Amino acid sequence: MRVYNTLTQSKVEFIPREEGKVSIYVCGPTVYNYIHIGNARCYLSFDVIKRYLKFKGFDVYHVQNFTDVDDKIINQAKKEGIPASEVAEKYSQGFIEDSKALKFDPPDIRPKATEHIPEMIEMIQGLIDKGFAYVEDGDVYFEVGKFDEYGKLSHRKLDEMEAGARVEVDERKRNPFDFALWKKAKEGEPSWSSPWGDGRPGWHIECSAMSLKYLGRSFDIHGGGQDLIFPHHENELAQAECYTAESPFVRYWLHNGFVTLTGDKMAKSVGNVVLLKDVIKKYDPMVVRMLFLTTHYRSPIDFSEEKLKESTRSYERLNNLVGNIDRVLKKREEKVSRLEPGRDVIVLKAFIENGEPEFVEAMDDDFNAPDALGGLFKAARDINTYLASYDEFSLDELDMLQDIKELFIRLGGAVGLEFTSFLSPEDVDEEWQEERRAVMLSGLAKFAGVNVKDAGVLFKRDFPSFVKKFVDLRAAKRAEKEWQTADTIRAFLDSQDILLEDTAAGTLVRIRRLIV
Ligand SMILES: [Zn+2]
Repeated sequence: MRVYNTLTQSKVEFIPREEGKVSIYVCGPTVYNYIHIGNARCYLSFDVIKRYLKFKGFDVYHVQNFTDVDDKIINQAKKEGIPASEVAEKYSQGFIEDSKALKFDPPDIRPKATEHIPEMIEMIQGLIDKGFAYVEDGDVYFEVGKFDEYGKLSHRKLDEMEAGARVEVDERKRNPFDFALWKKAKEGEPSWSSPWGDGRPGWHIECSAMSLKYLGRSFDIHGGGQDLIFPHHENELAQAECYTAESPFVRYWLHNGFVTLTGDKMAKSVGNVVLLKDVIKKYDPMVVRMLFLTTHYRSPIDFSEEKLKESTRSYERLNNLVGNIDRVLKKREEKVSRLEPGRDVIVLKAFIENGEPEFVEAMDDDFNAPDALGGLFKAARDINTYLASYDEFSLDELDMLQDIKELFIRLGGAVGLEFTSFLSPEDVDEEWQEERRAVMLSGLAKFAGVNVKDAGVLFKRDFPSFVKKFVDLRAAKRAEKEWQTADTIRAFLDSQDILLEDTAAGTLVRIRRLIV
């Protein structure tokens, strides 16, 4: 298996510290707001990586922190008029809820920065003792000039950075890139006592202290968004390697790409954020997962409503296959015991034999999920065509279909995709119907020429029969070769989240799994 390591800027063979075990640290959220789609991409990318490592048989230990003390939290507390600790608690809970909705495999531990102040103080003191940090009037700074390799992760050179820098001169710092390990307390802000007076830790030292505590030295994977490479991860690395006098702090640095919105990076500071919780009110979380899976985790994604709709269709394509196979398997009693001569089952056999090796080959190449899913999409297309061509299947075919279904579910699960059978018109609840009532009644009135009142009676009494009216009407138009009207009816139903699929056994009706 090969992974792209930001430190070497190349794809390298993945060899964990301990055979069969993988330790991962992913920088968690600074809890001062709900997460946006850009943040969600980071956690989703590492959820996919973690799940795939588990699929490969690794025993994974995953640590993801909460940064629950920070300037941004303090500012938000002033805005909301509540204590900083309440802000942190509120948005930590919000993050856990969002994570559950997106079905992230939860970390083994979620350490909070505020519960690890002693570990941070110990590390800062160690850095002072070894001459890598200095105290300046209650603040403590890391002295970047003392670490020869500073800049090795982000591939910058300190002297070039200094020449190009337009940072404000801070009299207290020996170098403009020196960064705070400890910040002197200010009036009304949370603080802890320390050998240098009351204060609070800097952001970077939190992650170094917590990752070393829970994962030990030279752990396997450190993850985060590309925007964290500098300064956050550069500084984490400098602190940790100077403190432990051991290199590497991390064996593989993995970073996911940005999410942009009409070309600009999505960021709270830019003000162009789309909150995850708002997206999943409208779209199935599996659709959001699909959106990120169909682009390589290191490439940028431009987020749009159009992309979500596209991902809805992509997800439906895979989900449909599982639903279609289920439908065939349920009719086992109608089985034909022998394979009909002339049927070519190579399409089925090809996926059973090659589906997994091709999927694994793609994922082993730096988690290339778009390529891995490409194989599933192709198989779904071929197998769906096969299923739609016949209405009876032999026992051999049913056995193969059972294997295919299981393989689909297993490979989907390796990247966190879950498949469920589609809802049928019998399954939808009243609220769902009510939202579509007015449009659907006038639709039936228009296409079938019935009056809205009669349509309304049927809608209320028997929704599946009501939907069937459209299906029959479309079939009649097709029989009359009025293709355009038939297509218009189908598109109308699609706009109401009712999908039609023509198969050898007739037209299937399914309800799109959008959350309403
Ligand atoms: Zn971090």
